[in-house]
Amino acid sequence: MSAAPILQVDDIAVTYSQLIPALRGVSLTVPAGAIVALLGGNGAGKTTTLKAISSLIRAERGELTSGHITYRGDSIGNADPWTLAARGLVQVLEGRRCFAHLSVEDNLRLGSFVRRPTRGDLSADLDRIYEIFPRLKERRLALAGYTSGGEQQMVAIGRALMARPALVLLDEPSMGLAPQVVEEIFETVAALNRDDGVSFLLAEQNAAIALRYAQFGYVLESGRVVAQGTAQTLLGLDTLRDAYLGSSKADVDGAARGSRRLQA
Ligand code: ATP
Repeated sequence: MSAAPILQVDDIAVTYSQLIPALRGVSLTVPAGAIVALLGGNGAGKTTTLKAISSLIRAERGELTSGHITYRGDSIGNADPWTLAARGLVQVLEGRRCFAHLSVEDNLRLGSFVRRPTRGDLSADLDRIYEIFPRLKERRLALAGYTSGGEQQMVAIGRALMARPALVLLDEPSMGLAPQVVEEIFETVAALNRDDGVSFLLAEQNAAIALRYAQFGYVLESGRVVAQGTAQTLLGLDTLRDAYLGSSKADVDGAARGSRRLQA
């Protein structure tokens, strides 16, 4: 991958509550315009990596104890999450967090606050989100808490998009969703990447689906990177197949074919 990185993570270590080590020496690169997958099982350190980048670990008594993180060429180790969002780096938290008692549209509006948009910009951005997720337009006045899991994931992603991001850190988008909805979410990610040039760092336990869409991936285990490579290389690793019992061999083989098609 030759594009200059939009994100560079160099040898970072993270500790929670000053004594629980969660990451040790994690390094990764997201080239501008790429979709990069961050794979691993429960507790491997995916969320911690994303939160270290977005500075959200501090809210959980987590601390970046060593290493460097660079976004668009600038060191961001100590930046606050709002400043990062205003600069186009946003995170979609695991579990499709929405403000349950606010309408779908109000949830989306909240995502634009970091940009302080004019009324016209806000309305144009909402129209754009409804173009991407037509279902949210139909549900725009519904309370987010009463929408389906898939719709809530769309609200969470839509809210991030309202910040007009250059890089989205997307945490476990497939979690708890039906396969058809997962497919729809990933197709949207692919379209945003292709049409708008948005880069993604995508944390997923479901390696089969993530590697169908990502060009490159990293595998985390116990807070360390244990494998990295192109989607095709990773799909060929027996250890990756063994590590993801949730992904049947048929799924992984299907993903390998899909990945080859995309790269052909
Ligand atoms: P999952 O898919 O289950 O969310 P993950 O790969 O995202 O897993 P993390 O949530 O980053 O993994 O967790 C990495 C390690 O850090 C785990 O051992 C976890 O128990 C620990 N950890 C995560 N959050 C905290 C916290 N707030 N305080 C203490 N330890 C934490």
